[in-house]
Amino acid sequence: VLSAPLRSCSGRLYLPIRFASITTYRCFSQSAHLARHPSPSGHKWSHPPSSTVIADDDVASLASKPQHSLSLADLVKHGRPPLSAAALYSSANFTLSLLPIRLAHRIHALRNLPFIVVSNPNISKIYNNYLHSLSTLLPYNHKTISNLEDEIRFTEVLAELVETHANTIPTLARGFLECRKYINPVQVTGFLDEHLRARIGTRLIAEQHIALHVSSQPHQDPTSKYEPSNNSSYVGVIDTALQPATIINSCGNYVSDICELEYGVRPTWIIDGEPDTTFAYVPVHLEYIITELLKNAFRATVESGKSHEPVVITIAAEPESPRGVPNSFDHSQTLDNNSPQESSENPSIKPFDDPAPGVTIRIRDRGGGISPKVLPNIWSYSFTTFSDEDELPGQISGSGNVDALNAISGPGGERSSIAGLGYGLPLGRAYAEYFGGGIGVQSLYGWGCDVYLRLKGLGKPKD
Ligand code: ADP
Ligand code: MG
Repeated sequence: VLSAPLRSCSGRLYLPIRFASITTYRCFSQSAHLARHPSPSGHKWSHPPSSTVIADDDVASLASKPQHSLSLADLVKHGRPPLSAAALYSSANFTLSLLPIRLAHRIHALRNLPFIVVSNPNISKIYNNYLHSLSTLLPYNHKTISNLEDEIRFTEVLAELVETHANTIPTLARGFLECRKYINPVQVTGFLDEHLRARIGTRLIAEQHIALHVSSQPHQDPTSKYEPSNNSSYVGVIDTALQPATIINSCGNYVSDICELEYGVRPTWIIDGEPDTTFAYVPVHLEYIITELLKNAFRATVESGKSHEPVVITIAAEPESPRGVPNSFDHSQTLDNNSPQESSENPSIKPFDDPAPGVTIRIRDRGGGISPKVLPNIWSYSFTTFSDEDELPGQISGSGNVDALNAISGPGGERSSIAGLGYGLPLGRAYAEYFGGGIGVQSLYGWGCDVYLRLKGLGKPKD
């Protein structure tokens, strides 16, 4: 009865046959109240005349396999680039052994949402992105990549996969916002937390192979369209000599630009402590976290009328541990640890030496702090106090801001807003925790906030 062809971003049609029946059952049996809310889109499900249907059995059998828990050792086990052809193929095959299972797990989790939720156009777009990505990898299933031509084609598929899922967070946020009547917030938070943490790992696996491919290019593929990186401090996506101060300054400029557009003022910042500190970390992760924390600090500073007070950012390097007392990242430690997974293989290669000191970054603003009423909610996805013109300043929407979402994911494409999605803190924390760090918020209500970002270093490279 319920059947709607789900359309992928490339316009292909898929039929999630069992999806319709299973999820309908879940929806109406487990959440009886949903029966009173028919699908807002009135979708009907039908068999699409498509040859690109993923057999439901394929998804089911992949989703029934345990997800391999990613460890840092996995990311660096193929050695430092440029990789030999054999090491590059081995990295490709390793990537291939992980990704289809991970995508199938995500598809499975999406299918387990109430049917009315996954039939929301935004959520179904995300669902279709996953189906589409899995369909592009399935031709490689049970194959071994052992020549350059296949490796190049596979890397192109990975690049497309990364691109397809690049700006999906506003879409997901909008979807859940539109469905908030039909699903309880605890279920949303549980789903999003697992989904977004899994997404971090999946992107990391794909991006690591792409980066290794790119930095091995001069030896492998003279016709490559990728720019080879000459930066020798990189092992794939990990920069072994990342300077947080550099990232803070570039993110500071970016967020200041947004403030100028939004409020007409450019807040300033000061870096003190140990600005020369370097450590091994994934730059795009640090960029994401710092951007979100600076958005919050700058917004609070401007909205409380304290734009003249600089945000003070203190960088503290963790002291090197005395001999025999490791303070370092355990390379075999698994990274995405909140879903049922098997334990990681024992790494035979450890291209990083101990110790691996971490870094703590404190972001101190004079933006008035967070009221006790707001404080308990700041870690919930979609919670925001950001208000647009049509809301009174300071009014708590508490469930995501549709106008801010319109600005972020409107038809004109992605635009950055200073706030409003309510994902900055919870997602920033998910990134920090991925490598064993964390975020702590200390509010001095009436004065300002201290936000502590702790990051575990990934180690020093072995020469
Ligand atoms: P968003 O910024 O989209 O609202 P976040 O998850 O980044 O979502 O933050 C959630 C809420 O936490 C903000 O809306 C704000 O009320 C509060 N908050 C976070 N950081 C600060 C800060 N430095 N000063 C004051 N309030 C803050
Ligand atoms: Mg924010």
